[in-house]
Amino acid sequence: MLLFLVFFVAQMAFAAGDVCVVCQREIRFKVFSREDKLNRTRCFLCEDCLKLPDNCYLCGLPVLKDFTRLPDGRVICKRDIGSVILDDKEAGLICDQVKEDLDRQLIRFIVIPATNVTVQFMDRVRLQELYKIIGNDFSCPNTLGCTETKIKAGRRVFEISLLSGQLRENLMTTCVHEYAHTWIIENVQPARRKKISKDAVEGFCELLSYLFAEQQGLRVAQADILANHYTRGQIHLFIEAQHQFGLNEVVDWMQSGTDAYLITNNLAGVRRLDTPKTVKTVPPPIYATHSEPESGPATLVLNGITWSPTRPMAMINHRNFEVNDEVKVPLGKTNVLVRCLTIQQDSVTIQVVGTGEKQQLRMDTR
Ligand SMILES: [Zn+2]
Ligand SMILES: [Zn+2]
Ligand SMILES: [Zn+2]
Repeated sequence: MLLFLVFFVAQMAFAAGDVCVVCQREIRFKVFSREDKLNRTRCFLCEDCLKLPDNCYLCGLPVLKDFTRLPDGRVICKRDIGSVILDDKEAGLICDQVKEDLDRQLIRFIVIPATNVTVQFMDRVRLQELYKIIGNDFSCPNTLGCTETKIKAGRRVFEISLLSGQLRENLMTTCVHEYAHTWIIENVQPARRKKISKDAVEGFCELLSYLFAEQQGLRVAQADILANHYTRGQIHLFIEAQHQFGLNEVVDWMQSGTDAYLITNNLAGVRRLDTPKTVKTVPPPIYATHSEPESGPATLVLNGITWSPTRPMAMINHRNFEVNDEVKVPLGKTNVLVRCLTIQQDSVTIQVVGTGEKQQLRMDTR
């Protein structure tokens, strides 16, 4: 009993100083706590606010005033409204950029379909209707987007539908996820597609999203991918397999692996293939065909790293490097020959050929 009293007093003292995160008033009686799903922090609420009828679909907290209600019923709190992309045109431009960056990041591994893909945006009601129509085939249980495959004029086309009004970071990774589905449909034989589990398919799509988020510094999206349970643990195994064996092996497993999914404690299974490996022809870097700007960046800039313990790659001033590569890169109005000495997970060491001077370039942490 004494113990109970001490506990009770502590609770009251605790309550006295707390301000309700929703109404901003001091909490006078009972304190309730809820998780802010966006920041992953615990927040304190008063009893009145806890009973409010609407919750922000992003942070999950109740909304009191100055919130936005989208036509499909989703509610967004005042704090979060600035972080979502409500304009479909803007969302389209973001997705175009995502596709470009993704191609650049994955150029040595896979080629994502380009000319036969369209991206459209729809609200939650329309997206859920679409799920019902297309059934379980190729739909993502994550409800943020889906990919339909159609045959038009004898040609396979993909229609990607993404939920409108998403956070910018989630929009970007959802876009990558759906593009990953298009790659699977186009590059994994029907027999293998039939055999591979849906969780593994989702796990692979999430892996590409995760790697993209890592490269782009999308920390919220990265945390969301790790916290998401809908691949039933496959995402964690895919990330681990990629760390241990590299993305190439994971891609090979997707195309001709023996197992239906990755197995805990036996990640080497990613190397068990039904058909022998074919030698892949790596497409030439896309930059070669792009028209270059008149002058390059004024300094050497590390644009990105595709990490693999066995074959890491880096992009410097939009040129691809593996360790020991010597590549001419644009610098100001001229070009310099750069040799890549080492590639770490977040930095590279390079040398401008002829100068003998070594430089370390770090990832720009945005
Ligand atoms: Zn309150
Ligand atoms: Zn919110
Ligand atoms: Zn999916």
